[in-house]
Amino acid sequence: TLGQMLDETVTKMPDTHAMIFGDQTVTYRQFGDQVNRFAGALADIGVVKGDRVGLMGPNCPQWEISFYALLKLGAIVVQTNPMYIEREIAYQMNDSGATTIIVLEMMYPRVKHILEETSLKRVVVFNFLAAVEPAQGMYSYDDLIKHDPVYPDAAINPIEDLAVLQYTGGTTGVSKGVMLTHYNLLANTLQVQEWDPNKEYGNERILTILPVFHVYGMTDCLNYAVALGATQIILPRFDVDQVLETIRVHKPTFFPGAPTMFMAINSHPRIAEYRESLVAIKSCTSGSAPLPLEVAQKFLEVTHGEGNLVEGYGLSEASPVTHCNPLDRPTLAGSIGLPLPDTDYVIMDLETGDREIPVGEIGELCVRGPQVMKGYWKKPLETAETMRNGWLHTGDIARMDEDGFCFIIDRKKDIIIAGGFNIYPRDIEEVLYEHHKVKEVVVAGVPDLYRGETVKAYIVLQPNTEASEQEFIAFCKTRMAAFKVPRHVEFRDELPRTIVGKVLRRKLVEEEKAKLQ
Ligand code: ATP
Repeated sequence: TLGQMLDETVTKMPDTHAMIFGDQTVTYRQFGDQVNRFAGALADIGVVKGDRVGLMGPNCPQWEISFYALLKLGAIVVQTNPMYIEREIAYQMNDSGATTIIVLEMMYPRVKHILEETSLKRVVVFNFLAAVEPAQGMYSYDDLIKHDPVYPDAAINPIEDLAVLQYTGGTTGVSKGVMLTHYNLLANTLQVQEWDPNKEYGNERILTILPVFHVYGMTDCLNYAVALGATQIILPRFDVDQVLETIRVHKPTFFPGAPTMFMAINSHPRIAEYRESLVAIKSCTSGSAPLPLEVAQKFLEVTHGEGNLVEGYGLSEASPVTHCNPLDRPTLAGSIGLPLPDTDYVIMDLETGDREIPVGEIGELCVRGPQVMKGYWKKPLETAETMRNGWLHTGDIARMDEDGFCFIIDRKKDIIIAGGFNIYPRDIEEVLYEHHKVKEVVVAGVPDLYRGETVKAYIVLQPNTEASEQEFIAFCKTRMAAFKVPRHVEFRDELPRTIVGKVLRRKLVEEEKAKLQ
């Protein structure tokens, strides 16, 4: 179990720092001790194996202690996005049937509003300040953590028992609870570890800037650190100045991030001052969304060719990592790399999704391995649709090259069908990224009376630049087939993104639909 993995590291590395958070440090001995205390206290207030428990807060030691305490009790962590509004929290609590939620004090008012419409019976508040009025069923983390470090044995079966209900981000539709077992999460942690033979047990420092409530941060920062006996340098939110300064001072050896983070780093005005610190990071990985070629190249430029940035790929349904570029050679441009150990992948035809197609052809990426979910929580139909004949259908369109490298073309749901032509937004985005005035771009299919859908580009310009719609349309005309050229261009100050930097295309399309009504 994940709890046993923590115990093993506590025994081997008691005095190594598990976390650095501001001026606070937590050793593995303290981490293990507080996890056990909190687990004991949660059991006393009635949390038992199989209970779903919401966990809502930013990256911080209390969040990580709560996570492992719940896992030790055999409870199921319901990762709750701290940005959620009341309606979204209520949906998640009701869908999962959570009876307890652990929440940062500052976020408690949103939870308070929805208590009556959910099955929540207990609220544990951390960072509990006098500002929150005590109420029936409310507990303070600081009080609970005083419990003795003993808790009941939950007799967890790692293969069967769920560790986490990881709600999908809802980028493409209704958020579903992905059932991940202890075995799934442990497997993925070990697969990631196996991928990187240069990592030394007890001697690594991981920059935890990805949110740990998201599956990518949970595995690549938190669980990976525990597996490696590594020190996490935890930051609660992305601020590029603070991130660069943290890298300079704390010298992480591993930096898992998202494309937007590397974009912000590349365009930092004093990037030259941080070159050496960036080069010293043994590996930076980019995942969660396509890494534009332009961004990967710029990272190499700002690090004078010595930066170690590789692209990987994953999804909630696979705990999440399934592919990554090898770390011992330069990343293959535009590719998500090779499958992790014990992971198989095939490309299936787009029509039926059940016929393997030849190398080089475009189809749906399907994967299998020990990290693949048990299914969607209470959604047997969606589970049967996604897991067919032992393969997880990812909903991503991809191709495989002769050497087995995988290239993501786009998401099935993002394909634009304009006048009968299939258009991949990413193709057009890559072209527009080559334009020197473009800072960020996203392309979406917006409703069109004549063509069904038509191509629209949303562009964030580089600072202090001006441009016209026509300029970009003309640029595209010389670089792509006419049917792909955006018909509309809109300039924005920023793009709507999820917390890990995925562009919310659906939001942009909904805005367009609303204009037509
Ligand atoms: P939903 O499933 O509800 O749409 P989501 O997008 O937030 O929500 P996640 O599991 O967080 O779901 O994201 C997985 C998806 O992220 C993948 O299916 C893929 O489309 C995209 N993705 C991840 N890494 C990459 C990458 N390197 N290149 C392209 N796409 C990527």
